[in-house]
Amino acid sequence: MGELRNCPVCGKVFVKLLKNLCPDCIDKEEREFEEVRLYLKDNPGASIGEISEFTGVDEDKILKWMREDRIDVCVGKGGVLTCKRCGSDIIAGNLCSKCAQVLAAEIKSATHSVPLKDTEPDKPKEPKGRGMFVAQKLRDDN
Ligand SMILES: [Zn+2]
Ligand SMILES: [Zn+2]
Repeated sequence: MGELRNCPVCGKVFVKLLKNLCPDCIDKEEREFEEVRLYLKDNPGASIGEISEFTGVDEDKILKWMREDRIDVCVGKGGVLTCKRCGSDIIAGNLCSKCAQVLAAEIKSATHSVPLKDTEPDKPKEPKGRGMFVAQKLRDDN
């Protein structure tokens, strides 16, 4: 038996199996993905905005699939995906190939006990795990 969760999308309580989504939302997402995929097949080079408008799928979701390399979207002018390090346009993932290499080298040198400067300022924590909070709250109410 998996654990009970609130679906982060629709809020329904479900038994967590593989994904952190309820079966309904997994179904829905798969259907949306299929729609986006088909639209791209007919309209190669469509922008995220066009896809989103035509299929009604959130741009965020399309972006997520792009990052997961599940779909190929032409980001072209003013690309939507940018390298997290240098900001240059990329097609998939979080980093351009150059930065990926640099980063890999940095990680290597870090293992040689070179103290890395604290470049990450303390960011406010993003409100993650909202679904779990809801689950907790529901339990309290009962
Ligand atoms: Zn759901
Ligand atoms: Zn880069």
